[in-house]
Amino acid sequence: MSSTQIVIVGAAGRMGRAITSCISRGVVENLSLTGAVDQSTSPHQGQDMGQLAGVPDMGISLTSDLPASLALGDVIIDFSFHAGIENRAKLIAEAGKCWVIGTTGLSDEEKAAVAEAGKSIPVILAANMSLGVNLLADLVKQAAASLKGRGYDIEVIEHHHRKKLDNPSGTALFLGEAAAEGSEWNISDVAVDGRTGIQAGERPVAEIGFHAVRGGDVVGDHDVIFAAEGELLKLGHRATSRDTFAIGALQASAWIQGKGPGLYSMRDVLGL
Ligand code: NAD
Repeated sequence: MSSTQIVIVGAAGRMGRAITSCISRGVVENLSLTGAVDQSTSPHQGQDMGQLAGVPDMGISLTSDLPASLALGDVIIDFSFHAGIENRAKLIAEAGKCWVIGTTGLSDEEKAAVAEAGKSIPVILAANMSLGVNLLADLVKQAAASLKGRGYDIEVIEHHHRKKLDNPSGTALFLGEAAAEGSEWNISDVAVDGRTGIQAGERPVAEIGFHAVRGGDVVGDHDVIFAAEGELLKLGHRATSRDTFAIGALQASAWIQGKGPGLYSMRDVLGL
């Protein structure tokens, strides 16, 4: 059986390197790295991806030539930056490739461009690729449904490393959406991004607060709290290594090959 050919976009970044290392170590079977793309301004242009990922040389050099690289892959794994994703959506759809997107911080317009690509190619868009977080979203939804109408205040608190650019994290928003769904609320009606200053009155129950803590090298901690009179229930997840996201992205890459056009989630991949 020939191996699935992977091209990484954002290859010089933290996730790009973790994915490269997992491919090199054969963590998910039958995948090979055939292309690695990053911005032309990256100081690592031309470097072998093995060196960048701290594994033996892989014979794949970092490039900024996205169109040429697309031709080299079956699956394009995107862990880069939300800006520019509309252009990538067009190019990847035109090239007829499978697209696994872990990039977060997408605007509604950018999400629409991804959905448009999903009309002609298979696409997975997931703010978090780990099994643990996807299971946690189910548990949060279930808890919210059970506690609905019983006076429990829901807040999402996340911690990430100091270099993270989007706030709150895509995972926090994903978990907040699960809580809103379980509560039968529309997330856009109830989301509050942090709190500051003096508010008019006490916190309404139909509200979900998001709080982003940034510092050090924290890979990703998320807690969803349900606080009532006399008790607080906390459901949480701690990522201790980026490998958990990298492995999820590679499992998604193995799963998506041969699927028809559509916008899929990690729930589909993981069979949750
Ligand atoms: P990072 O900043 O370390 O790496 C991003 C890389 O993308 C950089 O090397 C940057 O130069 C490159 N880049 C930016 N714009 C680009 C473009 N237009 N074309 C090609 N390359 C481009 O960030 P990271 O920690 O690796 O995270 C990357 C993204 O993945 C972020 O959006 C982050 O929130 C997300 N993320 C998702 C998951 C998940 O499970 N879905 C897990 C971790 C991180």
